[in-house]
Amino acid sequence: MIKVDEALKIILSAVKQVESENIPLIESLGRVLSEDIHAGSDIPGFDNSAMDGYAVRFSDTTNASKVKPKTLEVICDIKAGDSPKASLKENQAARIMTGAIIPRGADSVIMVEDTERVSGNRYQVTGKRGKEWVRVFKEVKLGENIRKKGEDIKKGELVIPGGKELNSAHIGILASLGMSSIKVYRKPRVAILATGDEVIEIDKELATGKLRNSNTYTLYSQILKCGAIPKNLGIAKDKPDQLEKSIRKGLDCDIILTSGGVSVGDYDLVKDILAKMGTNIKFWKVAMRPGKPLVFGTIKNESRSCVQGRDKLIFGLPGNPVSSMISFEVFVRPAILNMMSQIHDERKEVDAVLEEDIVKKKGLRYYLRAYTHWKNGVYLTRTTGPQGSGILKSMALANSLIILPEEEEKIEKGVRVTVRFLD
Ligand code: AMP
Ligand code: MG
Repeated sequence: MIKVDEALKIILSAVKQVESENIPLIESLGRVLSEDIHAGSDIPGFDNSAMDGYAVRFSDTTNASKVKPKTLEVICDIKAGDSPKASLKENQAARIMTGAIIPRGADSVIMVEDTERVSGNRYQVTGKRGKEWVRVFKEVKLGENIRKKGEDIKKGELVIPGGKELNSAHIGILASLGMSSIKVYRKPRVAILATGDEVIEIDKELATGKLRNSNTYTLYSQILKCGAIPKNLGIAKDKPDQLEKSIRKGLDCDIILTSGGVSVGDYDLVKDILAKMGTNIKFWKVAMRPGKPLVFGTIKNESRSCVQGRDKLIFGLPGNPVSSMISFEVFVRPAILNMMSQIHDERKEVDAVLEEDIVKKKGLRYYLRAYTHWKNGVYLTRTTGPQGSGILKSMALANSLIILPEEEEKIEKGVRVTVRFLD
């Protein structure tokens, strides 16, 4: 039996990165960049107005107020997309729209709400006719309401590092930089095989002693959440030939997951079958609860549809529904993310105050299903009821896992424990 940390180290050292592929930017949500993105241009590409208003020289607005407005001559209109020829002189302004280029001579923009438009014909004070004028009711600061060229992103800057999972904002930046297609890691393929004579398809009538296959469904969705592609291999009976035949169907994938049949019962055949198939078994049994009976190994790549030379990872996950989920969370998920070079796990871990006493077995790391919430400046955490490894409801009610170290035996209410959020 090995410790969780050692098991994880062995798994990660067996992980090989998957290849990259080019995909259209529009389809890139949740995909993992496989190259660093440096900006090919400044964003914004030119100084432009952040407001609808008037481009002015800030010095022409000195001391302007509601009672003593400054009057400026409006020499042109500049819409977004225009390329203005005009150049502002003293006491002149240009009407300007959001996103439009700041004309030469202007150094600030006053928002339209702080001005009043005056048409020349009706404006008697100056005696000039036909011209347009604007009254300015407020002083502007130098550079006010101007978005400077490159203020968001400078040309050459590292904008998104390789290994990042793309979100909507990243995609927007890549669009602004004109990248209509990008390089991402291909999605790892992960096969799932449920095992057990008692396990039946979910649309079948429940006969005595049978139970429906929930593990395939939880694992399938956990795989999707990691950004990988699940392949359902169905259910195999606890019969050596059938098990081997079914497992072989997963050899075109990067990872094969089996559930059940890895404990010490008479019909727990998975480990032996894997060994017979030539799997290099790296460990069996991990010092944790739930999830102790876990087999991990690698098997040579036999499929021509995959890149040669990369071994497949095989996880014989425990059959109990909670154990299967937790083992996935602790071991399979990091393996999948690392295949796409996502070394930074975004799961948040915090210290939380335990709201109940917990007794545990020494030597095992515990992953308790918990509900954790923020109250009066601290996180509080409590388990979500009975923690049996078959009680999937405990997982459904949880937003987090309380992680208790191997050496602990009794943890008292009020003590701070490590909690990992699940989503
Ligand atoms: P095993 O390790 O095969 O003895 O399985 C442990 C427990 O998990 C048993 O109670 C099984 O009935 C249950 N189990 C195994 N496979 C599944 C599955 N695919 N879905 C739900 N429960 C399962
Ligand atoms: Mg079984």
